Amino acid sequence: MNVLQNNPEMTGQTVAPPSVPTPSPVVEKTVYLVAREDGICLVMFDRPGSSANIFDLRTLDELAQELEFIERQTELKGVIFVSNKRSVFIAGADLNAMLKVASSDDARVLIERGQAVMNRIAALPIPTVAAVHGAAVGGGYELCLACDYRIASPDHATKIGLPETKIGLLPGWGGSTRLPRLIGLPKALDIILGGKTVPAKLALKLGMVDEVAPAECLVAAAARKIQQGKPCRPDHWLTNNRLVAAIVAPRVRKMILKKTRGHYPAVMKALDVVTRGISRTVEASLALERDGIIELMQTDVCRNLIGVFFLQERARKKTLFVTGSATEPKPVAHTAVVGAGVMGAGIAQWISARKLPVILRDINTEQVAKGMATIAKLYRDGVKHHTFTAHEARAGMERVHPAPAEVPLHHADIIIEAAVENLELKKKIFQRLDELVSPETVLATNTSALPISEMAASTRHPERVVGLHFFNPVHRMQLVEVIAARQTAPEVIQHALKFAQQIGKLPVVVKDSPGFLVNRILIPYLIEAGNLFEAGAKVEDLDEVMLDFGMPMGPMRLLDEVGLDVSLHVAGTLAAHFGDRMKVPGCLGKMTSAGLLGRKSGGGFYLYEKSKEAKPNPQLSVYVQNQKAREISREELQERMVFLMINEAARCLEEQIVTDPADVDFAMIMGTGFAPFRGGPLRYTDTVGAARLVGAMNHLVASGTAHFEPCSLLAKMAETGEKFYPKTERVL
Ligand code: NAD
Repeated sequence: MNVLQNNPEMTGQTVAPPSVPTPSPVVEKTVYLVAREDGICLVMFDRPGSSANIFDLRTLDELAQELEFIERQTELKGVIFVSNKRSVFIAGADLNAMLKVASSDDARVLIERGQAVMNRIAALPIPTVAAVHGAAVGGGYELCLACDYRIASPDHATKIGLPETKIGLLPGWGGSTRLPRLIGLPKALDIILGGKTVPAKLALKLGMVDEVAPAECLVAAAARKIQQGKPCRPDHWLTNNRLVAAIVAPRVRKMILKKTRGHYPAVMKALDVVTRGISRTVEASLALERDGIIELMQTDVCRNLIGVFFLQERARKKTLFVTGSATEPKPVAHTAVVGAGVMGAGIAQWISARKLPVILRDINTEQVAKGMATIAKLYRDGVKHHTFTAHEARAGMERVHPAPAEVPLHHADIIIEAAVENLELKKKIFQRLDELVSPETVLATNTSALPISEMAASTRHPERVVGLHFFNPVHRMQLVEVIAARQTAPEVIQHALKFAQQIGKLPVVVKDSPGFLVNRILIPYLIEAGNLFEAGAKVEDLDEVMLDFGMPMGPMRLLDEVGLDVSLHVAGTLAAHFGDRMKVPGCLGKMTSAGLLGRKSGGGFYLYEKSKEAKPNPQLSVYVQNQKAREISREELQERMVFLMINEAARCLEEQIVTDPADVDFAMIMGTGFAPFRGGPLRYTDTVGAARLVGAMNHLVASGTAHFEPCSLLAKMAETGEKFYPKTERVL
C-alpha cells in the first residue's frame, strides 16, 4: 500500500503526523512534514518568529517525533530535509542552552539527544538528502552529514561547515566522526580544527556536498538523488587509518601549540577525538566526541568565546531608542566616499559588494584610478577565495562610480569622508559637502582620532555629522565605531548605526573623545611597548610576551603594520589631550624621520624582504636610551603592557565613552583581536580581580612609573570587591 497516496493528509500540504497531537495555537512547531505525491517526504524546519533555525532541545524532540513517524512508513521512497527560511538552513545548536549547562550531567543529556537524532537519520533504510540553502553550520551541517546526500545552493547566504572550535567546542553531534569518513582525514582536520565554514562551490570541491543546484531547483535535484538509491560509502582507506592518524596527530599538535600557545583547548581536543575516532567504530568515535565536548563545555574559554559570539549578535541587532521618532530610518540607497586611499577604496569596495552604488571621489584622476585599482584587486582576490563569483565581482565593480571632479551629491543618503588625517583639510571638505548635499544626507568621517565636533562645527548643520570609524583592512575587520559628536542628533546616530548593520558590519556606539574607544585603549599599550624598547627590552621579547598573552600580533609588529608615521600621528593626537599619561616615546619620531616607517618602507622594528620572513632590525641600538638597564622579566613586560590597556578601558567606562562594559570588551576583541578567550580586558579584570591588578599597578607607581596610577573606578572596585560583570551567569 502506498501510504502517501492513500493518506488524504499526505497530498503536498504541511501536515502533522498522527503520532503528534494537533499543535495548540500557542505552542508553534519548528519541524513539519510535507508529503509529496511521489512518495518522498520533506522534513521542513521553520522556527516560529525567527529568521533562523537552531537546534534547541524542543526542536530535537520534535525532529525525533517526526523521525519516529517516518520510521513507521514502510512505503516511503526517501526523505529531503529543507528549511523554510530565507538565508538559513540550520544555524547549529542553541548556544544559550550550552551556556546554561551547569553540570556534566546536563551536558551529557544535550549531547546524547543530538547524537541520537542524527543516528536515527543515518539509520533510515531509505535515501535521505539535505537540500541546503543558507547557513548549514555546526549541528545544521551535522544533520547534513547524517544524510546520504547533500545538495547546496550556490547563493551567497549558503555557508557550510563546522565552526565549533571557534567557540571553544568540537563537533559533538557526529561531525567529528562523519566528516573524516566522508572527505578523508586531512581535509576534515582542516575544516574541524580551523572551525571553517565554506561557500557551496568550495564545499563541492572538498566533497562536503555532492552537488550544487540553484535554490529553486534544490528539491527537484534532491528528488533525483533519491531515485539513485542509497550511495556507496566513500572509501578513504589511504588516509583514514591508525597509522596515518598516528603520524599526523603529533605533527598537527605541534603546529597548533605553536599557533595557539595552548590557549584554545578545543582545537587540541578535536584533533585528539578525530584522530583517535577514525580507526574505531562509529559508535566508539561518537562516544569520544561526547566525552570531549562535555569536558570543553565547562571551561571558561568556551564560556568566553560563546560570550563573544553573543556580543556579535547583539551588535548585529542593536538599535537606539530615539525619542520622538517612532520609525526606523529608511535603508540607505545611495552613498559616496570622499578620499580613495587605503581606507576610502576599502570602504567603497565593501559598500559596493553589499549591493549599494557608491561614488568614489578624490582630488584627481590619478588618485581615483589608484582607488579603483585597489577595489579591482580586492574583487579579484575575493573571486580567488570563492567569496564572490566572477559575475558578482563584475557587478560590484560596476556599482563604484569614479569621480575625479566634483559631482552632484544631493541624492546621497550618506557620505563617508576618508581623506588624509588633517583637521583643517577635513573641515574644508565638510564645509563643501554641506553645500552640495540635501538636508537629509548624513555626513560621516572615518577619522582615526580627530575631534568630530570640530568638523561638525564647520558645517551649517552640525547635527547631521557623525563618525563612522572603519578598521583596516576594511574587508576583514567587522567592527565599526559609530561616533556621536556633541552636536550629533540621536536620529543621525541611529541612521549611521543602521547603515553599518545594513552593510554587514558590527557597530559599537561611542562618544566623541580623542581616539574614541579602540585607539584610546590600544595607544597606551603601544606607547608602553615603545617605552620598554627604549629601556632596553628586545623587540622579539615584547612581541613574544603579548603573543603568549593571546594577542594575534605583538605590539612591535603591529606598529610596523600600521606604519610608524600613522601611529605617531594618532599617538600625538592622544598625547596632546591626555598629557604625560600618553607621552609618546622619542624612538617613534626618530625612526619615522629616518624613514623606518614599518612594513610599507621595507623596515621598522623588523626588516621586510620580499619572500622572506620578517626578522628583527639589527640596527636599532641608536634608538635605545638605556643600554645598561636592568633586565626586565618577561612577566613584567607583559604585565606593564596589559595593565595600561585595562586601566584605559576602565577609564573609558568612567568617562562614559561607552556605558556598558560589554561594549568595551566587544570593541577590543573585534578591533584589536584582544585575546578573545579571555573575554576582553574588563572580563579579564574580573577573572584576575581588580584588587590584585590595582595592587600591582600601585607597586609600579611606587617604583617611579606614575603612568600606572590606577583610575578611580578600578581603585574603588579593588576596595569594594565589585566586578564589571556582577552576574555569574551570562544572560545575553
Ligand atoms: P590615504 O593617505 O591612503 O588616502 C587619503 C586619500 O585622500 C588620498 O587618496 C588623497 O588623495 C585623498 N584626499 C586628500 N585630500 C582630499 C580632498 N580634499 N578630497 C578628496 N580626497 C582627498 O589615507 P588612509 O589611510 O586611507 O586614511 C584615510 C582616513 O582614514 C584618515 O582620516 C585616517 O586617519 C583614517 N583611518 C586610517 C586607517 C588606516 O589604517 N590607514 C584606519 C582607520 C581610519
